[in-house]
Amino acid sequence: MNSGSPVDAGTPLDATRDRLEVQGITVHFGGIVALDDVSLAAPARQVTGIIGPNGAGKTTLLNVLCGFVRPTAGSVSFGGRELNRIRPHDLAELGIARTLQGIGLFSGLSVIENVMVGATSLAKAGFWSGLSGLPRSDADERRLRDYSQRALELAGIGDFAEAMPDMLAHGQRKRVALARALVARPRLLLLDEPASGLAESELAELDGLITGLAKQCTVVVIEHRMDLMMSVCQRIFVLDFGKVIASGTPDQVQADPAVTAAYLGTDVVQAVSESGSGSTADATEPTMSTPQAKERAGD
Ligand code: ATP
Repeated sequence: MNSGSPVDAGTPLDATRDRLEVQGITVHFGGIVALDDVSLAAPARQVTGIIGPNGAGKTTLLNVLCGFVRPTAGSVSFGGRELNRIRPHDLAELGIARTLQGIGLFSGLSVIENVMVGATSLAKAGFWSGLSGLPRSDADERRLRDYSQRALELAGIGDFAEAMPDMLAHGQRKRVALARALVARPRLLLLDEPASGLAESELAELDGLITGLAKQCTVVVIEHRMDLMMSVCQRIFVLDFGKVIASGTPDQVQADPAVTAAYLGTDVVQAVSESGSGSTADATEPTMSTPQAKERAGD
Protein backbone atom coordinates (compact mmCIF):
# COMPACT_ATOMS: atom_id res chain seq x y z
CA MET A 1 0.00 0.00 0.00
CA ASN A 2 1.13 3.47 -0.67
CA SER A 3 1.89 5.59 2.34
CA GLY A 4 4.53 7.81 0.81
CA SER A 5 4.33 10.45 -1.84
CA PRO A 6 1.30 10.55 -4.12
CA VAL A 7 3.22 9.26 -7.09
CA ASP A 8 4.82 6.48 -5.14
CA ALA A 9 2.64 3.61 -6.24
CA GLY A 10 4.63 1.25 -4.05
CA THR A 11 5.51 -0.90 -7.03
CA PRO A 12 9.00 -1.72 -8.21
CA LEU A 13 10.13 -0.51 -11.58
CA ASP A 14 8.64 -2.56 -14.36
CA ALA A 15 10.31 -1.34 -17.54
CA THR A 16 7.65 -2.85 -19.79
CA ARG A 17 4.70 -1.72 -17.73
CA ASP A 18 5.76 1.87 -17.54
CA ARG A 19 7.11 2.40 -21.06
CA LEU A 20 5.34 4.64 -23.55
CA GLU A 21 5.55 3.70 -27.25
CA VAL A 22 4.37 5.90 -30.09
CA GLN A 23 4.38 4.30 -33.54
CA GLY A 24 3.79 6.11 -36.83
CA ILE A 25 1.36 8.71 -35.51
CA THR A 26 -0.09 10.97 -38.18
CA VAL A 27 -2.62 13.71 -37.49
CA HIS A 28 -4.38 15.79 -40.14
CA PHE A 29 -6.38 18.92 -39.34
CA GLY A 30 -8.14 19.49 -42.63
CA GLY A 31 -5.31 20.18 -45.06
CA ILE A 32 -2.69 20.60 -42.31
CA VAL A 33 -0.45 17.69 -41.43
CA ALA A 34 0.21 18.40 -37.76
CA LEU A 35 2.04 15.11 -37.17
CA ASP A 36 3.60 13.00 -39.89
CA ASP A 37 4.54 9.41 -39.05
CA VAL A 38 5.90 10.23 -35.60
CA SER A 39 7.49 7.39 -33.63
CA LEU A 40 9.15 7.67 -30.27
CA ALA A 41 9.55 5.86 -26.98
CA ALA A 42 9.65 7.11 -23.42
CA PRO A 43 11.42 4.59 -21.18
CA ALA A 44 10.11 3.88 -17.73
CA ARG A 45 11.09 6.29 -14.95
CA GLN A 46 13.03 8.59 -17.18
CA VAL A 47 12.38 12.13 -18.37
CA THR A 48 11.77 12.20 -22.12
CA GLY A 49 11.61 15.62 -23.73
CA ILE A 50 9.81 16.80 -26.84
CA ILE A 51 11.05 20.04 -28.29
CA GLY A 52 10.58 21.91 -31.54
CA PRO A 53 9.78 25.33 -32.92
CA ASN A 54 6.31 26.85 -32.65
CA GLY A 55 3.78 24.87 -34.65
CA ALA A 56 6.03 21.78 -34.80
CA GLY A 57 3.29 19.53 -33.44
CA LYS A 58 4.28 19.13 -29.77
CA THR A 59 0.90 19.96 -28.27
CA THR A 60 -0.88 17.86 -30.86
CA LEU A 61 1.28 14.91 -29.87
CA LEU A 62 0.45 15.42 -26.19
CA ASN A 63 -3.22 15.66 -27.13
CA VAL A 64 -2.97 12.34 -28.95
CA LEU A 65 -1.42 10.76 -25.84
CA CYS A 66 -4.36 12.03 -23.77
CA GLY A 67 -7.08 11.01 -26.21
CA PHE A 68 -8.03 14.64 -26.94
CA VAL A 69 -7.01 14.18 -30.57
CA ARG A 70 -7.60 10.99 -32.51
CA PRO A 71 -4.74 10.23 -34.91
CA THR A 72 -5.35 9.59 -38.57
CA ALA A 73 -2.85 6.74 -38.42
CA GLY A 74 -0.47 5.09 -35.99
CA SER A 75 -0.66 3.64 -32.52
CA VAL A 76 0.16 4.54 -28.93
CA SER A 77 0.77 2.04 -26.18
CA PHE A 78 1.64 2.39 -22.52
CA GLY A 79 2.92 -0.60 -20.65
CA GLY A 80 2.18 -2.76 -23.66
CA ARG A 81 -1.48 -1.73 -23.66
CA GLU A 82 -2.79 -0.04 -26.80
CA LEU A 83 -4.31 3.36 -26.08
CA ASN A 84 -5.84 4.03 -29.44
CA ARG A 85 -9.42 4.22 -28.23
CA ILE A 86 -8.46 6.15 -25.13
CA ARG A 87 -10.83 8.86 -23.96
CA PRO A 88 -9.74 11.66 -21.63
CA HIS A 89 -11.82 10.33 -18.72
CA ASP A 90 -10.00 6.98 -18.94
CA LEU A 91 -6.65 8.58 -18.16
CA ALA A 92 -6.65 8.31 -14.36
CA GLU A 93 -7.54 4.66 -14.45
CA LEU A 94 -4.74 4.04 -16.94
CA GLY A 95 -2.25 5.81 -14.68
CA ILE A 96 -1.77 8.80 -16.97
CA ALA A 97 -1.90 12.43 -15.82
CA ARG A 98 -1.25 15.66 -17.62
CA THR A 99 -0.72 19.26 -16.66
CA LEU A 100 -2.26 21.84 -18.97
CA GLN A 101 -0.42 24.79 -20.48
CA GLY A 102 -3.25 27.06 -19.36
CA ILE A 103 -3.14 25.66 -15.78
CA GLY A 104 -6.94 25.24 -15.64
CA LEU A 105 -7.68 25.66 -11.93
CA PHE A 106 -11.22 26.27 -10.68
CA SER A 107 -11.23 29.79 -9.25
CA GLY A 108 -14.18 29.04 -6.98
CA LEU A 109 -12.39 26.20 -5.20
CA SER A 110 -9.53 26.46 -2.72
CA VAL A 111 -6.11 25.17 -3.65
CA ILE A 112 -6.58 21.87 -1.83
CA GLU A 113 -10.08 21.41 -3.24
CA ASN A 114 -8.62 21.83 -6.73
CA VAL A 115 -6.20 19.03 -5.97
CA MET A 116 -8.95 16.88 -4.48
CA VAL A 117 -10.80 17.19 -7.77
CA GLY A 118 -7.82 15.47 -9.37
CA ALA A 119 -8.24 12.53 -7.03
CA THR A 120 -11.99 12.29 -7.35
CA SER A 121 -11.64 10.48 -10.64
CA LEU A 122 -9.69 7.87 -8.75
CA ALA A 123 -12.48 7.56 -6.22
CA LYS A 124 -14.82 6.81 -9.10
CA ALA A 125 -12.38 4.24 -10.35
CA GLY A 126 -12.51 2.52 -6.96
CA PHE A 127 -9.08 3.77 -6.02
CA TRP A 128 -9.92 5.15 -2.61
CA SER A 129 -11.95 2.21 -1.46
CA GLY A 130 -9.14 0.00 -2.73
CA LEU A 131 -6.60 2.02 -0.85
CA SER A 132 -8.43 1.94 2.44
CA GLY A 133 -9.87 -1.53 2.07
CA LEU A 134 -13.26 -0.07 2.97
CA PRO A 135 -16.37 0.87 1.03
CA ARG A 136 -16.42 4.50 -0.05
CA SER A 137 -17.76 6.76 2.68
CA ASP A 138 -17.60 10.34 3.85
CA ALA A 139 -14.55 9.38 5.90
CA ASP A 140 -12.73 8.94 2.61
CA GLU A 141 -12.82 12.67 2.17
CA ARG A 142 -10.42 13.12 5.09
CA ARG A 143 -8.00 10.69 3.51
CA LEU A 144 -8.47 12.42 0.20
CA ARG A 145 -7.63 15.74 1.85
CA ASP A 146 -4.52 14.29 3.55
CA TYR A 147 -3.41 12.78 0.32
CA SER A 148 -3.99 16.02 -1.56
CA GLN A 149 -2.01 17.89 1.08
CA ARG A 150 0.92 15.52 0.49
CA ALA A 151 0.70 16.14 -3.24
CA LEU A 152 0.79 19.89 -2.59
CA GLU A 153 3.84 19.46 -0.38
CA LEU A 154 5.54 17.35 -3.02
CA ALA A 155 4.93 20.15 -5.49
CA GLY A 156 6.34 22.65 -2.98
CA ILE A 157 3.09 24.53 -2.37
CA GLY A 158 1.82 22.86 0.81
CA ASP A 159 1.57 26.10 2.79
CA PHE A 160 -1.11 27.47 0.47
CA ALA A 161 -3.65 24.67 0.75
CA GLU A 162 -6.48 26.90 1.97
CA ALA A 163 -5.73 29.82 -0.36
CA MET A 164 -7.85 30.61 -3.39
CA PRO A 165 -6.03 30.20 -6.72
CA ASP A 166 -6.50 33.86 -7.68
CA MET A 167 -4.40 34.88 -4.67
CA LEU A 168 -1.39 32.97 -5.97
CA ALA A 169 1.37 33.99 -8.33
CA HIS A 170 1.58 32.27 -11.69
CA GLY A 171 4.41 29.95 -10.63
CA GLN A 172 2.49 28.93 -7.52
CA ARG A 173 -0.62 28.13 -9.54
CA LYS A 174 1.49 25.95 -11.79
CA ARG A 175 2.60 24.00 -8.74
CA VAL A 176 -1.02 23.49 -7.71
CA ALA A 177 -1.78 22.18 -11.19
CA LEU A 178 1.16 19.81 -10.86
CA ALA A 179 -0.08 18.63 -7.46
CA ARG A 180 -3.48 17.94 -9.01
CA ALA A 181 -1.79 15.74 -11.59
CA LEU A 182 0.33 13.98 -8.95
CA VAL A 183 -2.57 13.15 -6.69
CA ALA A 184 -3.86 10.84 -9.39
CA ARG A 185 -0.76 8.71 -8.70
CA PRO A 186 0.28 8.64 -12.36
CA ARG A 187 2.62 6.08 -13.82
CA LEU A 188 2.96 8.38 -16.82
CA LEU A 189 3.12 12.12 -16.22
CA LEU A 190 2.76 14.46 -19.20
CA LEU A 191 4.04 17.96 -18.50
CA ASP A 192 2.99 20.68 -20.93
CA GLU A 193 5.42 23.61 -20.70
CA PRO A 194 5.97 23.40 -16.94
CA ALA A 195 8.43 26.31 -16.99
CA SER A 196 6.31 28.79 -18.92
CA GLY A 197 5.87 31.98 -16.95
CA LEU A 198 8.33 30.94 -14.27
CA ALA A 199 11.13 33.26 -13.19
CA GLU A 200 14.71 32.20 -13.82
CA SER A 201 15.14 31.71 -10.08
CA GLU A 202 12.33 29.12 -10.03
CA LEU A 203 13.89 26.91 -12.70
CA ALA A 204 16.39 25.12 -10.47
CA GLU A 205 13.61 24.02 -8.14
CA LEU A 206 11.50 22.84 -11.06
CA ASP A 207 14.50 20.94 -12.37
CA GLY A 208 14.87 19.15 -9.02
CA LEU A 209 11.15 18.48 -8.83
CA ILE A 210 10.94 16.89 -12.29
CA THR A 211 14.08 14.84 -11.69
CA GLY A 212 12.60 13.60 -8.41
CA LEU A 213 9.28 12.69 -10.02
CA ALA A 214 11.03 10.57 -12.63
CA LYS A 215 12.28 8.32 -9.87
CA GLN A 216 8.68 7.29 -9.40
CA CYS A 217 6.96 7.59 -12.75
CA THR A 218 7.63 7.96 -16.46
CA VAL A 219 7.77 11.63 -17.41
CA VAL A 220 7.23 13.20 -20.82
CA VAL A 221 7.78 16.92 -20.99
CA ILE A 222 7.20 19.56 -23.66
CA GLU A 223 9.10 22.72 -23.03
CA HIS A 224 10.68 25.66 -24.86
CA ARG A 225 13.25 26.33 -22.12
CA MET A 226 16.29 24.58 -23.51
CA ASP A 227 18.35 25.06 -20.39
CA LEU A 228 15.79 23.11 -18.38
CA MET A 229 15.37 20.43 -21.04
CA MET A 230 19.08 19.87 -21.44
CA SER A 231 19.34 19.42 -17.69
CA VAL A 232 16.36 17.19 -16.85
CA CYS A 233 15.89 14.98 -19.92
CA GLN A 234 17.63 11.66 -20.49
CA ARG A 235 16.39 11.65 -24.06
CA ILE A 236 14.97 14.32 -26.34
CA PHE A 237 12.92 14.08 -29.53
CA VAL A 238 12.90 17.09 -31.83
CA LEU A 239 9.82 17.81 -33.93
CA ASP A 240 9.72 20.16 -36.88
CA PHE A 241 6.75 20.50 -39.21
CA GLY A 242 5.20 17.44 -37.61
CA LYS A 243 8.17 15.14 -38.16
CA VAL A 244 10.82 13.82 -35.79
CA ILE A 245 13.98 15.40 -37.19
CA ALA A 246 16.37 14.31 -34.43
CA SER A 247 16.51 12.33 -31.21
CA GLY A 248 19.08 11.34 -28.66
CA THR A 249 20.67 12.51 -25.47
CA PRO A 250 20.64 16.24 -24.83
CA ASP A 251 24.27 16.44 -25.99
CA GLN A 252 23.51 14.56 -29.21
CA VAL A 253 20.48 16.68 -30.00
CA GLN A 254 22.35 19.86 -29.22
CA ALA A 255 25.10 18.88 -31.67
CA ASP A 256 22.72 17.86 -34.46
CA PRO A 257 22.85 20.29 -37.40
CA ALA A 258 19.24 19.49 -38.31
CA VAL A 259 18.18 20.81 -34.94
CA THR A 260 20.21 23.94 -35.29
CA ALA A 261 18.70 24.48 -38.72
CA ALA A 262 15.18 24.13 -37.35
CA TYR A 263 15.74 26.88 -34.83
CA LEU A 264 16.92 30.23 -35.90
CA GLY A 265 19.74 32.57 -35.10
CA THR A 266 19.69 31.70 -31.46
CA ASP A 267 20.42 28.06 -31.98
CA VAL A 268 20.08 25.45 -29.30
CA VAL A 269 23.76 25.61 -28.41
CA GLN A 270 23.58 29.33 -27.89
CA ALA A 271 20.39 29.08 -25.87
CA VAL A 272 22.04 26.57 -23.57
CA SER A 273 25.22 28.54 -23.20
CA GLU A 274 23.14 31.57 -22.24
CA SER A 275 21.27 29.70 -19.53
CA GLY A 276 22.15 30.64 -16.02
CA SER A 277 23.29 34.06 -17.14
CA GLY A 278 20.23 35.77 -15.74
CA SER A 279 18.47 35.88 -19.09
CA THR A 280 14.71 35.98 -19.06
CA ALA A 281 12.32 33.27 -20.18
CA ASP A 282 11.85 34.98 -23.50
CA ALA A 283 15.56 35.36 -24.04
CA THR A 284 16.25 31.67 -23.54
CA GLU A 285 13.35 30.62 -25.71
CA PRO A 286 14.83 29.76 -29.05
CA THR A 287 13.31 31.63 -31.90
CA MET A 288 13.49 30.79 -35.56
CA SER A 289 15.22 32.49 -38.44
CA THR A 290 15.32 29.69 -40.95
CA PRO A 291 13.20 29.91 -44.10
CA GLN A 292 10.71 27.57 -42.42
CA ALA A 293 10.62 29.85 -39.42
CA LYS A 294 9.95 32.87 -41.53
CA GLU A 295 7.23 30.95 -43.29
CA ARG A 296 5.66 30.17 -39.91
CA ALA A 297 5.95 33.75 -38.83
CA GLY A 298 4.26 34.82 -42.05
CA ASP A 299 7.30 36.79 -43.25
P1 ATP B 1 3.66 25.73 -29.93
O1 ATP B 1 5.03 25.50 -29.45
O2 ATP B 1 3.47 27.06 -30.59
O3 ATP B 1 2.60 25.44 -28.89
P2 ATP B 1 3.32 23.13 -31.14
O4 ATP B 1 4.63 22.54 -31.47
O5 ATP B 1 2.66 22.68 -29.88
O6 ATP B 1 3.40 24.70 -31.17
P3 ATP B 1 0.83 22.40 -32.37
O7 ATP B 1 0.02 23.32 -31.52
O8 ATP B 1 0.73 20.96 -32.08
O9 ATP B 1 2.35 22.83 -32.39
O10 ATP B 1 0.40 22.66 -33.88
C1 ATP B 1 0.90 21.89 -34.98
C2 ATP B 1 0.20 22.35 -36.25
O11 ATP B 1 -1.17 21.95 -36.23
C3 ATP B 1 0.20 23.86 -36.45
O12 ATP B 1 0.31 24.12 -37.82
C4 ATP B 1 -1.15 24.26 -35.93
O13 ATP B 1 -1.59 25.46 -36.53
C5 ATP B 1 -2.01 23.08 -36.32
N1 ATP B 1 -3.14 22.83 -35.42
C6 ATP B 1 -3.06 22.51 -34.12
N2 ATP B 1 -4.27 22.30 -33.59
C7 ATP B 1 -5.14 22.51 -34.62
C8 ATP B 1 -6.56 22.46 -34.74
N3 ATP B 1 -7.34 22.12 -33.70
N4 ATP B 1 -7.11 22.71 -35.93
C9 ATP B 1 -6.35 23.03 -37.00
N5 ATP B 1 -5.01 23.09 -36.96
C10 ATP B 1 -4.41 22.85 -35.79
